[in-house]
Amino acid sequence: MKKIIFDLDDTLYRNELRLEREKAILNFLDCKKEKYLELKKNHGTIESLNILGVNKKQFFDIMDNVPIEIKKDEKLIKILEKIGKNYELIVLSNSSEFCVREVLTKLGIIQLINKYYHGENFENQKPNEECFFMVESRDICVGNSFRKDLEIPKKLGAITILVGEKENPNADFTIRNIYELEKIMKSIENI
Ligand SMILES: [Mg+2]
Repeated sequence: MKKIIFDLDDTLYRNELRLEREKAILNFLDCKKEKYLELKKNHGTIESLNILGVNKKQFFDIMDNVPIEIKKDEKLIKILEKIGKNYELIVLSNSSEFCVREVLTKLGIIQLINKYYHGENFENQKPNEECFFMVESRDICVGNSFRKDLEIPKKLGAITILVGEKENPNADFTIRNIYELEKIMKSIENI
């Protein structure tokens, strides 16, 4: 069975959580926050925090304390139920195990996901190649960041679907939101 590998945050749901998480980091960093914002221009979140002496475990602890306010998504449930008949559904996220499990549970899709991988499963975060060990040629990868979620899968021969407002010519398909996935799946299956 072919797989669909989904990023989680800003891909399977979109809300204020990203902002709340960013606020929690800035609060924690206190006087180091200017430096952090400067580092973020050229580095990822965890990398920037590492430079400032904050390790991955501390980072995940900060994230785990941000309340996750996400509602059950009936529309998404229906789509995944349908697609899950023909594909193995996988979630691959840089977030902590707790956050990934919580978000999937609150969305109401945890029982529809065959397997999920989180930031504690890997030494390095996406886009590090080790995170994509499960991706095989003709699998489908879905994410909101071409660089973090889709660039490596594309090299591995996967079909790439970018979720977001801006199109990226490197992605095989771009959809505005996850609800457009069903329509795109029909065109993929007709190739
Ligand atoms: Mg994302």
